[in-house]
Amino acid sequence: MNVYDSARMADSLSPLGFEETLAPEGADLVIINTCHIRERAAEKLYSELGRLRLLKQERQAAGGKLTLAVAGCVAQAEGAELLARAPFVDIVVGPQSYHRLAELVTRSDDGARGLMDTEFPVEPKFDSLAPQRHAEGVTAFLTVQEGCDKFCTFCVVPYTRGAEYSRPAADIIAEARHLASLGAVELTLLGQNVNAYHGVGPEGADWGLARLIEELADVPGLARIRYTTSHPHDVDDALIAAHRDVPELMPFLHLPVQSGSDSILAAMNRKHTADEYRRLIGRLRDARPDLALSSDFIVGFPGETAADFEATLRLVRDIGFAQAFAFKYSPRPGTPAADRDDGVPEAEKDARLAALLDLLREQQDSFNDAMLGQIVPVLFEKPGRHPNQLVGRTPYLQPVHIDTSLMRTGLLDKTGMDLIGRIAETRLDERNAYSFSGTLINGVEQMTETMMRISA
Ligand code: SAH
Ligand code: SF4
Repeated sequence: MNVYDSARMADSLSPLGFEETLAPEGADLVIINTCHIRERAAEKLYSELGRLRLLKQERQAAGGKLTLAVAGCVAQAEGAELLARAPFVDIVVGPQSYHRLAELVTRSDDGARGLMDTEFPVEPKFDSLAPQRHAEGVTAFLTVQEGCDKFCTFCVVPYTRGAEYSRPAADIIAEARHLASLGAVELTLLGQNVNAYHGVGPEGADWGLARLIEELADVPGLARIRYTTSHPHDVDDALIAAHRDVPELMPFLHLPVQSGSDSILAAMNRKHTADEYRRLIGRLRDARPDLALSSDFIVGFPGETAADFEATLRLVRDIGFAQAFAFKYSPRPGTPAADRDDGVPEAEKDARLAALLDLLREQQDSFNDAMLGQIVPVLFEKPGRHPNQLVGRTPYLQPVHIDTSLMRTGLLDKTGMDLIGRIAETRLDERNAYSFSGTLINGVEQMTETMMRISA
C-alpha cells in the first residue's frame, strides 16, 4: 500500500512542477514513506533521516534548499515526537492527509516550518488522489479499502490507518479502467483488511469484494486480479465462489493466520480458531483445487508456550503453504498486547522463528519443485538484468526468466520486448533460489490467442 500511496503523492505534486527522481542527491523534496508495523521498520526512518540531514546541510551551505517530508504510519503515530527528535524535518504527513500534501509543500516553500498533518479528515482523500500520469506498468496496485476495525491486540494498523473505509465501487472501476488504459494487465486490489470491503455499488447497493472482483474481471485489458491482505474471518461464501467462477482471479491467496494455537489466537483477538482456518482453507480448495496459499505468522507472542508453538508447526504441516512470512513479535506502543508480560526468552523466540522459517522454506521449495517441467501462463513484466532476458510471473507470482534470443516467432520485434504486458505459455525448465528459467512454448499461436483474449 505504501507503493500505491507513494505514487499518489507523486501524482499530487506534479501540478506544482515536481517530477519523480530515483536519488535524493538532485531532489528539491524528499519524502520518506514509512511503516510502523514492527519496531525495526520504524527504526529505519531515523537512520535514513540522519543521512538526509547531512545532505540538507550541504545544500544549505551551497545556498540551496532541500525540503524533507516524512509520510506514512510512523508520521501518523509519532508525529510530534518525530519533529522534536528531528527538527530539521519540514513536513510530517499521515496517511489520511495525502490529498493535502501539495498544500503543505506550498506552505513549506513559503517559509512555514515543522508542518504536521496527522488528522483523519472527513473529506474523502481518494477523490483528489486518482492516478494521473503515472503508468504503474504491467502490474498495478489499486487501494479499494483502508483502515481496520479488527483490533488484533498486537497491531498498530487500526490506530495509524484509522477506521475501516471502503471506496465507492464506481470510483474503483473507473480507476481500474484508467490503469488498464495505461497498460496494466494485472491488478492487485489493496486494503489493510481488503475482504472487509463493503463499498457502495453504482445503484446504491452494498457491494462486497466478490462483486467488485466480478465487475473488474470485465474491464478490457485486465487479465489477472489479486487482492491483499485479507482476514480469515471476512472470507464469505461469495468470495469463495469467486475463486471458483472468476478465471481472472489468480489461484494464489495470502491469508494470514498468525498462529496455530487457539489460546494464542484468542489472546490476539483474531476471531477464529485453528480448526476454523483449516476448514476455511478446505472450502477454498474445494472451490479452486489449484489454489496455493501464503500466510503471515507471529512467533513469540506474549505467553506463547512450547506447546502453542508446536500447534503452529502442526497447522503449517496440515495446510502446506506455497510461501509465507514469519515475524518475531514486536511490541507496539499503544496496542493492548504491548502491556502484557512477555515470558518468552529472546533466544527461545529466535529458535522458534528459525524452526518455523525452515519448515516454510521446505514447503516453498517443494511447491516450486513440483512445478518444474510444467507449462504455465506467464505474464511478462520487464526486461531482466541480462541482454535478451525478460522477466514475468506465473499465476503464483513466481518470477520466470526467459531468453528471448531463443524464440522463433515472427510476431515479435527483434528483442522480444513486444512480449511485455502479454501472457504466454512457458515451460518451467530450471529452478533457481527464488525464480525459474523457462522457455516460451508455441510462441505465436498461444500469444495471439492470449492477445485476442486480452483485447476482447
Ligand atoms: N491485515 C493483515 C495484516 C496486516 S500487518 C491481517 O490481518 O493479517 C502484516 C503482518 O505483520 C501481520 O499479518 C502480522 O503477521 C505482522 N505483524 C503485525 N503486527 C506485528 C507485531 N506487533 N509484531 C510482529 N509482527 C506483526
Ligand atoms: Fe492489524 Fe490485520 Fe488485525 Fe487489522 S486485521 S488489526 S490490520 S492484523
